[in-house]
Amino acid sequence: MGVFETIGTEPHESVHFGSDPASGLRAIVAVHSTVLGPSLGGTRFYPYPDEDAALVDVLRLSKAMTYKAAAAGLAQGGGKAVIIGDPVKLASEDLFRAYGRFIDGLAGRYITAEDVGTTVENMEIVATRTSFVSGLPIENGGSGDPSPATARGVVASIKAVGDHLWGTDDLHARRIAIKGVGKVGYALADMLASGGAELIVADVNEEATEAAAEEFGAKVVAAEEIHKVDCDVYSPCALGADLNETTIPELACTAVVGSANNQLAVPADVDRLARRGVLYAPDFVVNAGGIINIAAETGGYTIEKSNRMVDTIYNNLTEILETADRLGISTEAAAEHVAEMRIDAARKQGGES
Ligand code: NAD
Repeated sequence: MGVFETIGTEPHESVHFGSDPASGLRAIVAVHSTVLGPSLGGTRFYPYPDEDAALVDVLRLSKAMTYKAAAAGLAQGGGKAVIIGDPVKLASEDLFRAYGRFIDGLAGRYITAEDVGTTVENMEIVATRTSFVSGLPIENGGSGDPSPATARGVVASIKAVGDHLWGTDDLHARRIAIKGVGKVGYALADMLASGGAELIVADVNEEATEAAAEEFGAKVVAAEEIHKVDCDVYSPCALGADLNETTIPELACTAVVGSANNQLAVPADVDRLARRGVLYAPDFVVNAGGIINIAAETGGYTIEKSNRMVDTIYNNLTEILETADRLGISTEAAAEHVAEMRIDAARKQGGES
């Protein structure tokens, strides 16, 4: 398919192609929207089967970033970048320096960060050629590992859902099942246990579940059983597509509130959840703590400032849940509606038609 034909399926402000034959760099940056602010999103380094697949992915991911930032109430737009190739074979200092020059040429319309296939170390090399990079270590003026902030945002979301469903955000009364106790899931278990919640956990990594059992008194169940656990909140914090036509009928929770990206296997799963009477807190609202932590870099980063900003997820999600009830639409549609209202308001304020 031709480039414009592919782009034409979804309006993007601009798409940029960068290459450096000497280092093998082939990169695409998609700027979906800068209406709310500079576009922000990570760099995915992935062995795409062909250039079309890379273009389709970067367009899809950059649009998702616009919605995520807008739903989080940030003065930030949506963008994303992909580097085509296998990072294990292709990553080099020369490549990331060339990539940094490419990003610098976009003059701040796009701010990058790490994503699947790129690391903080890679971004430190990019930062030698451009200032339009975020997510660097705190000691280098960045915001560091976003996982604790993401976990904090999940806690705020669980509290908002508790208030909405049961009229209390007290965690003492909550029985919560967490799938995946990695960087986010483990920090989440820690925070929930401190709040007095009863925990059930699962992970394919036994060391992680053993540590959670020992440190937080969590009960451990098999990874393929955790979604069936009778609980108040099921929290998917492992991989995507966890909520699907097989798992949804087996859920025994009242609400789903987790950090994993793309939890719904297909869009229709949101209706499947509603029919089961399960409240679904949209993943891109719940897991916005990471991007909010990066946004806290603007004007100088401190952990206190980041925490304050991440805690706004509580009110944000409450507004979305109330919007869903008021309009009789799914929570996913309500989150998109709230994001679109914010973008439209900013567009009108900016005088755009
Ligand atoms: P991670 O790799 O540190 O943790 C994932 C954990 O899930 C690991 O412990 C892994 O062993 C476990 N896991 C994998 N497959 C599993 C399975 N089938 N059953 C049970 N456990 C399984 O990743 P993370 O940074 O903690 O991120 C977790 C999720 O949250 C991902 O979907 C990620 O995209 C999303 N997310 C993370 C952040 C962040 O700040 N790290 C921000 C937004 C979204």
